[in-house]
Amino acid sequence: MALSSKGTALITGASSGIGAVYADRLARQGYDLILVARSQTKLTALANRLSDATGRNVEVVTADLKEKADLLRVEQILRNDASITLLVNNAGVGAVMPLLVSPVDDMQDMITLNITALTRLAYAVAPGFVARGAGTVINIASIVAIAPEILNGVYGGTKAFVLALSQSMHHELADKGVRVQAVLPGATATDFWSEAGHPVENLPQEIVMPVDEMVDAALMGLANGEVVSIPGLHDGAQWDRYEAQRQVLSGLFGNSTAAPRYR
Ligand code: NAP
Repeated sequence: MALSSKGTALITGASSGIGAVYADRLARQGYDLILVARSQTKLTALANRLSDATGRNVEVVTADLKEKADLLRVEQILRNDASITLLVNNAGVGAVMPLLVSPVDDMQDMITLNITALTRLAYAVAPGFVARGAGTVINIASIVAIAPEILNGVYGGTKAFVLALSQSMHHELADKGVRVQAVLPGATATDFWSEAGHPVENLPQEIVMPVDEMVDAALMGLANGEVVSIPGLHDGAQWDRYEAQRQVLSGLFGNSTAAPRYR
């Protein structure tokens, strides 16, 4: 028997990797889907497979989210389609080279996709969710959000932005019925690595998580009410302590005098 619909999930970067697995899992949970990426061929093949397997309605939107006109088209969908109950802000690219050998134009393109597009899509969907008193935003960040020394620093910076925006959105919107989750994957076996010029096969395999396992863990984190989910961090209490200390520090910064060590 078909599941009753949970509304529509719009997933960016759904043509491969993490986004494609979210599409699979969310269709099986009973969501209709809007799949967004540049590759129409891959999106259409996935849409056909998922609608055949689940009976859900799956639409495809071909868009380059670095391009203003394409981004605006997706923003309009998020603003106008009241059936949308979930946004998975997943499209993103990475970089592995140090600052001095990374062309600044490539860095700017990464910022445009990982930060500007993600932010504009969150802005487009949030007012409707608040008006309806319900909705979920999943923002795909990365462990480099809190460990920017591991890969390219601009990439880490974009993901630190995603984490901070998610925490702020949770702070502002939780009491209005809007769920926000930041997902911090570690190395995950997708095309991300070859796109960034460092195939995943070249990583120590003990740090690489299969993509299905990563997404299933993140969805369990969502079901358990987590604001920040880190599938690869085995001792969750470590994050809880880090986060508690951050909350303590948040209350200590505002002072009318400089600290004695600066006088
Ligand atoms: P992936 O397999 O390369 O998928 C990236 C997705 O983004 C693809 O569907 C791609 O589709 C889409 N995309 C890229 N540029 C786009 C653009 N300009 N406009 C629209 N869509 C675009 O990599 P992934 O690992 O699944 O990455 C998904 C997210 O996970 C990213 O935000 C990444 O930073 C994050 N992440 C990945 C890892 C990892 O180790 N894999 C770890 C931490 C975080 P098209 O090429 O068809 O547009």
